[in-house]
Amino acid sequence: MEVRREMKVYLLNPPYFPHFGRGARWQDTGRGGTLYYPIWLSYVTAVVEQEHESKLVDAPAWNWDLKRVIDDVKEFKPDVIVMDSSFPSLNNDIKVAEEIKKSCDGLIVLIGPPASKFPDYILANGGVDIVARFECDFTVKEIADRREKGEGLEDVKGISYRRDGETTHNPNREFTCSEDLEGIPFVSKIYKKHLNIRDYFLGQSLYPEVQIFTGRGCPNQCTFCTWPQTLMGRKYRVRSIPNVLDELEWIQDNLDVKEVFFEDDTFTISKERVLKFCKEYRERGLDVTWACNARADTLDLETMKEMKKSDCRLLIAGYESGSDEILKKIKKGFTIKQIKQFAKNAKIAGLLVHGDFIIGLPGETKETIELTRKLIKEVKPDILQVAVASPFPGTEFYEWCKEGGYLLTDDPNEYLDEAGHQKAIISYPELTNEEMVKEADAMLKRYYMSLSYVPLAMKQVLRRHGLDEMRRLWYSARMFLGYVGGREK
Ligand code: SF4
Repeated sequence: MEVRREMKVYLLNPPYFPHFGRGARWQDTGRGGTLYYPIWLSYVTAVVEQEHESKLVDAPAWNWDLKRVIDDVKEFKPDVIVMDSSFPSLNNDIKVAEEIKKSCDGLIVLIGPPASKFPDYILANGGVDIVARFECDFTVKEIADRREKGEGLEDVKGISYRRDGETTHNPNREFTCSEDLEGIPFVSKIYKKHLNIRDYFLGQSLYPEVQIFTGRGCPNQCTFCTWPQTLMGRKYRVRSIPNVLDELEWIQDNLDVKEVFFEDDTFTISKERVLKFCKEYRERGLDVTWACNARADTLDLETMKEMKKSDCRLLIAGYESGSDEILKKIKKGFTIKQIKQFAKNAKIAGLLVHGDFIIGLPGETKETIELTRKLIKEVKPDILQVAVASPFPGTEFYEWCKEGGYLLTDDPNEYLDEAGHQKAIISYPELTNEEMVKEADAMLKRYYMSLSYVPLAMKQVLRRHGLDEMRRLWYSARMFLGYVGGREK
């Protein structure tokens, strides 16, 4: 089929703080020099580009300011502009849309987590023409197709827009199915064509790396987690293993990267699928170091060993808390006992673990923080992350905070400090926001600056790709010390 190239679509990760990560789960200017790919926007690009001339622009990665973006838009002359958004940057993103509107008559479509929660607010300002709610790859493509044919938007599912001066909300679009995901061109090709892979850095990954999805959605119920509740839904749908391996093969042959990160909410949900992946990976003779998100209740030792044999390097595990009570309250679905077993198995299998903890979840007190501290000491993650709980609109946790009167601000635009880092925006009678930040910073500092971290760091350096591990550790350490120094001032 001949590809039509009449419509021009401009896909923009709007300017905000440099290195601001709209593609992250907790959107802020990441600690440790982190910069996420604009991953959702890149997938939209992959779908739209099949039919329309497209340009993907990552302003926070390229340090582009608004003027630079507007000049570029004027030059490209798009028919449709697709803008990513996030809760903490929402007002900024709406403003960017307003400014672009002044110098371009393209249709402006806003996507991202706030789209599903605040469509009326977004449309009220006049810059944004259409809001594409939840998972939007095929919604955006349909908007571009319709525009090309001069057709109306009345029956385009998943959008809110203004019609005759009124805001109209069309019904939700069904989430994609596995076949849909299978048909999306490889996002790694989009990275190569539109972005510079050397711009992106994840503190836990070998550099340079790429992030891809082998599946979307998460069936688990964690109350604080944003993507399943504001973007991708609760059903895990997956690409076939041959399709994923084809992409890995393409990456191996075409990109100079040291690691591929599977950003699936939980790649490890199906043991069967993971084992099949590992078997077929080895049968193809691939040599691509990879890492993935993993739940503490989904992997046994046998599977971890298979993963290790198939070049898996690291698991990101959301342990969240050292208190069983808190794990229950946030509907995490596993226990401290399971966390300990998982950590032990990973060490036996030879997989690194990046352990994520959160301070300030429901029920947090000084005593539960102590339990978390003890658990960290016991499970000794190779890389530790401690964040302050951030209740994003659209999540059950947000509603809980709101009902309890724990929110210090109801405005997500106030979630970041002047450096673009996440602030603590909740406070409990038994634990204030300042105490949460202090505890999280102290945990990180104590962990990374203690002598007992030395063997953990050495273990990382003495592995395959030891030199790359050393560079990663050095870069993360520099950025971390800068961050801690800044906080202390
Ligand atoms: S398992 Fe992970 S991705 Fe799924 S809901 Fe819980 S925190 Fe979110």
